[in-house]
Amino acid sequence: MDNKNNPWKKDFPILDQKVNDEDLIYLDNAATTQKPQTVINDITDFYTHDNANVHRGVHTLAERSTEQFEQAREKIQHFINAEHSDEIIYTKGTTDSLNIIARSYGEENIEEGDEIVISYLEHHSNLVPWQQLAIKKHATLKYIELDNDGFVDLDDAKKKITDKTKIVSIAHVSNVLGVINPVKEIAKLAHQHGAVMVVDGAQSVPHMPVDVQNLDCDFLAFSGHKMLGPTGIGVLYGKEELLNQMSPVDFGGEMINFVHLYETDWNDLPWKFEAGTPNVGGAIVLGNAVDYLNEIGMDKIFDYEKKLVDYVLPKLLDIDGLTVYGPHDPKKHTSVISFNLDNLHPHDLATGLDMEGVAVRAGHHCAQPLMKYLGVSATARASFYFYNTFDDADTLVKAIIATKEFFKNGTI
Ligand code: PMP
Repeated sequence: MDNKNNPWKKDFPILDQKVNDEDLIYLDNAATTQKPQTVINDITDFYTHDNANVHRGVHTLAERSTEQFEQAREKIQHFINAEHSDEIIYTKGTTDSLNIIARSYGEENIEEGDEIVISYLEHHSNLVPWQQLAIKKHATLKYIELDNDGFVDLDDAKKKITDKTKIVSIAHVSNVLGVINPVKEIAKLAHQHGAVMVVDGAQSVPHMPVDVQNLDCDFLAFSGHKMLGPTGIGVLYGKEELLNQMSPVDFGGEMINFVHLYETDWNDLPWKFEAGTPNVGGAIVLGNAVDYLNEIGMDKIFDYEKKLVDYVLPKLLDIDGLTVYGPHDPKKHTSVISFNLDNLHPHDLATGLDMEGVAVRAGHHCAQPLMKYLGVSATARASFYFYNTFDDADTLVKAIIATKEFFKNGTI
C-alpha cells in the first residue's frame, strides 16, 4: 500500500509541508495527533457562529452552545460505550482526569495501610498522583512487574493485588512499549479483592475500540488532543454509582445546586465535577473529532495500524545495531515503537531523523521508572496513526539507516 491507498492523509493539511527540505513524516502521534481540516473548520465555525457560555443563559447562542456541548458528551458516551452520559466528565486531559480520581476517590477511600497497585510501565501522570496519595495517607504503593515482552504481568498482578488493595490503576496501552495490557483481566482481579480499577486510556482510546462496560473498569481517563481533538480537553469516565458517592475537588460556579452562607449543595453529575466555565469549544470540537473517527470506524483504524506495524517492525528489527523495546512479534505490538541505536544518544538519533523530515520523540517519555526498569536513560519513539502510510514507514527506516551512517562517517 502507498500514499495513494491511504484515503485519510489528505485530510490533514499540516502533513503537506517540507521540513528541512524533505516531506514531513509525522511520527509523534503518541505525544499529540494532527487535526483534519474538518475539525480545524469546526473550531472556526464555533467561534464564528455559536460561541457563548453554557448552561447559564436563555439567549439563543447560549442555548446553541449548551446543546452542542451536551451533544458532544453523548457522542463520547457512545464512543466508549458508557451506560449514561452523566458518566462523562469533561476535564483538561488524561493527567487532569487521573488527578481528580486520586484527589476525590483516593482521598476519600485510602487509609493508612491500604495498598494502591500500579505497574512499572506507567506514565508519570498515572504514577505521581498515586505516589503522592500513598505518601499523604501512609498507604503502600505496589508495582506489578512486566513480562519478557513488556506486558503488565498477570501472574504478578495476582500476587500484588490483595484484600488490602483499594485502587488498581494501569495503562491500557503503553506509551513506550506499545503493548496492550490485559486490563479486563486485571479489573476482574481488582474487583475480586474489592478494589476499583482505573484505566489510563490515553494511548488506547484514539487507536482501538474501547468499551468501558466490556472492560468493566470503574474509571477511564483519556485526552482529546491524542485523538484529533484540540488540546486542553479530555475525559474522565466513571461509573455513575461511584461518581455519585464522590466529592468534587474543584469548587465554584457550575458545580453547585444551591449555595448557602455556610454550606453548599452540589450539582448533579456530571456538572458536580466541572467547576467554572468549561472548555466549551474544545468539548464540542472533540465531539466532531469523534464523528470523524466513527466515520472511518475504530475497528478499521486498529486493523490499518496493525498492518503498518506488521510492515515496519520487521524492517526495524533488521537494522544492525538498533534495539527495539517491547515485543518483537508484530502481532503483539501496537503502533508505538521505541528504539535505540548503538552508541548514539536518542536525542542525536531524533535530530538526525528530523534532518530527513521525520518527526519522532526522544527522551524518557514521562516514564522514568520504566526507563530504569529497561536499564536505559532514554529512547527514541516513532508512533504512527491511521493517516501515516507505508511510504512513511519506509522513510523512517531509510532515515534511521542514513543517521547511523552519518554518525559513523561524519556526514549526512
Ligand atoms: N498516559 C499516557 C499513557 C500517555 O501517553 C499520556 C500522554 N503522553 C498521558 C497519560 C498524559 O496525557 P496528557 O498529557 O494529555 O494529560
